[in-house]
Amino acid sequence: MHFLPENIDNYVVSHSQQEPKILKELSRETWQKVLNPRMLSGAFQGRVLSMITKLIQPKNILEIGTYTGYSALCLAEGLSSEGKIFTIDKNEELETLQNKYFEKSGYRNQIEQYVGNALEIIPEIDEKFDLVFIDADKSNYINYFHLIIDKMNSGGIILSDNVLWSGKVVEKLDPKDKDTKVLLEYNKLLNEDDRIETVLLPIRDGLTITRVK
Ligand code: CA
Repeated sequence: MHFLPENIDNYVVSHSQQEPKILKELSRETWQKVLNPRMLSGAFQGRVLSMITKLIQPKNILEIGTYTGYSALCLAEGLSSEGKIFTIDKNEELETLQNKYFEKSGYRNQIEQYVGNALEIIPEIDEKFDLVFIDADKSNYINYFHLIIDKMNSGGIILSDNVLWSGKVVEKLDPKDKDTKVLLEYNKLLNEDDRIETVLLPIRDGLTITRVK
């Protein structure tokens, strides 16, 4: 969902870095082969992720929600030479496509893939993180936050995607809509927890930058 008027959005995109060729290919293949391609990080948001990770130059990144690997490759662009990205997805059927592009990218040996339930996998990764990207099932965002907060290095950044949820966060809440309910609580938590500082950016479907003190 785009919140900006189309002409402004076009201007923003045309005055921002272009999508690298390999990500264009991955994007095209995702649209051809995979269900739900709207879950793919868009080209512009991908460049935002790339810029943020290059500013941080993280040693360890955790990504919750690999999908086809597009955002993992954007985030890998900023990894320090010793750095690693640990990326988790519950869907094993996406691994072949992920692997194809991880191989092509040159980041293969810096990417650790996990398939399964992130709530079980995260506690087993014995690392501290400089950057975390949360982009999986919205109903678990709060649970993910509580699992990662003590695994963050001081000054580390947590990015949370889809926090505006197509604008539903400002509409009347449907009591059956668990995702929106959790996102409302999550956004409040990020803004109120004393251990962190947060700005919510209206980029695409809403992207929050949270800095751990
Ligand atoms: Ca997303």
